[in-house]
Amino acid sequence: MPLDSVDGIPDADLIFVGGGLANGLLAWRLSQIQPKLRLMLLESGDTLGGNHTWCFHDGDMTADQKQWLTPLIVHQWDHYSVHFPGRSRQLDSGYFAVTSARFHATLTAQLGTQVRLQTRVQSVGPKRVKLSTGQVLTARAVIDGRGVQPSPFMTLGYQKFLGQELRLSAPHGLRGPVLMDARVAQQDSYRFVYVLPLSPDTVLVEDTFFADDSQVDFHLLRRNIAAYVGQRGWQVMAMVREELGVLPLTLAGNPDSFWKSANGVVKSGLAGGFFNPATGYSLPDAVRFADHLASLSPAQMGAENLFGSMQTHAIRRWHEQGFFRLLNRMLFFAAVPNERWRVFERFYGLPLPLIKRFYAARLNPFDKLRILTGKPPVAMGAALRAAFITPRALASRADRSNRASGANS
Ligand SMILES: Cc1cc2nc3c(=O)[nH]c(=O)nc-3n(C[C@H](O)[C@H](O)[C@H](O)COP(=O)(O)OP(=O)(O)OC[C@H]3O[C@@H](n4cnc5c(N)ncnc54)[C@H](O)[C@@H]3O)c2cc1C
Repeated sequence: MPLDSVDGIPDADLIFVGGGLANGLLAWRLSQIQPKLRLMLLESGDTLGGNHTWCFHDGDMTADQKQWLTPLIVHQWDHYSVHFPGRSRQLDSGYFAVTSARFHATLTAQLGTQVRLQTRVQSVGPKRVKLSTGQVLTARAVIDGRGVQPSPFMTLGYQKFLGQELRLSAPHGLRGPVLMDARVAQQDSYRFVYVLPLSPDTVLVEDTFFADDSQVDFHLLRRNIAAYVGQRGWQVMAMVREELGVLPLTLAGNPDSFWKSANGVVKSGLAGGFFNPATGYSLPDAVRFADHLASLSPAQMGAENLFGSMQTHAIRRWHEQGFFRLLNRMLFFAAVPNERWRVFERFYGLPLPLIKRFYAARLNPFDKLRILTGKPPVAMGAALRAAFITPRALASRADRSNRASGANS
């Protein structure tokens, strides 16, 4: 039987494929607002949410959204800092962290038997999934949230990082997170270190690159972290855990073809392209999507209706976010890799409200003008060429970086 038809009563109203951030939040929120819905959250791993620390800015969400997310928030700070060779600044704006351990504990307590761990889905259709065991499960709609998947219709750059949670021999002395410390060797990318103070003597230190390809040199990143920790005079007692991130940054794409290739399957999170194109962060989009889904009536939750409304939303959002893709192209094509930090140093000199709207992906036309005007940190000719780069040049660039990733992975 094809994966888009269902005979008789389906096994669930909604099946979520992948129990990561987006689908986990969707299922959790729906079970609070519409407890009569029959949900199934299928996750191939041993826990929901994998191994992450997800952060967001105060301005990314409404007060209501922050309220319902509160049980998942493990750390919060009222400011953060950035450091560049020519600028250090403290930004008095709230920053919050959700851990995957809390995510797993909270969601499994609420969702109970609706969660199925160690359940790998082999194929997905709009209303049916086939598990790796061969079992077929049916629903009124399936929501595919299996994380980022390569697509010929998207050209990406990457924010890649390795994070280590370290217990130190003495208090680190930080009062708030350091979102970017770019006073480090750039190593042919935009490179910075990100530090979250999790307790007086525990820090999460991430060595981060904005790079053309997705390959990760673990040895280099571990050496970089050790060197940074040493420079700060911190002595490590124990490495509590490591986390790896390879986040997509969108440069260009064809959203119509992207959604056509989904063949009617509703997609959430990174799988659906729901993230800030300039940071790869998807928590605020996932929260918005959860609110949207929870506001629908059960009658509106059929596969056709959900796919149509989500596709319309995604394509509208794509057009709203064109400016972020333009900035990415300028960063990746116009700035010499070792000089990309200048773009961020200048950006962090802008007014705080604008920076907040940037992270929330809600820039107004004046913000955009403000970001582009002034003394440009990249050569004007190169910036214009990057802005108007042709689809063919983008495609050959995507080929090159895919080959580079494949050759080294
Ligand atoms: C280490 C790290 C830190 C990050 N930090 C932040 C941050 O601070 N703020 C922020 O907003 N974003 C952050 N991101 C980016 C992004 O928000 C996360 O990647 C987020 O987890 C993406 O959510 P998702 O639901 O799309 O995918 P995921 O959370 O990756 O979930 C996908 C799930 O699908 C499961 N799965 C895959 N295939 C199958 C299958 N065949 N069958 C069943 N299950 C399957 C996976 O096991 C996984 O649990 C971070 C990413 C990483 C990797």
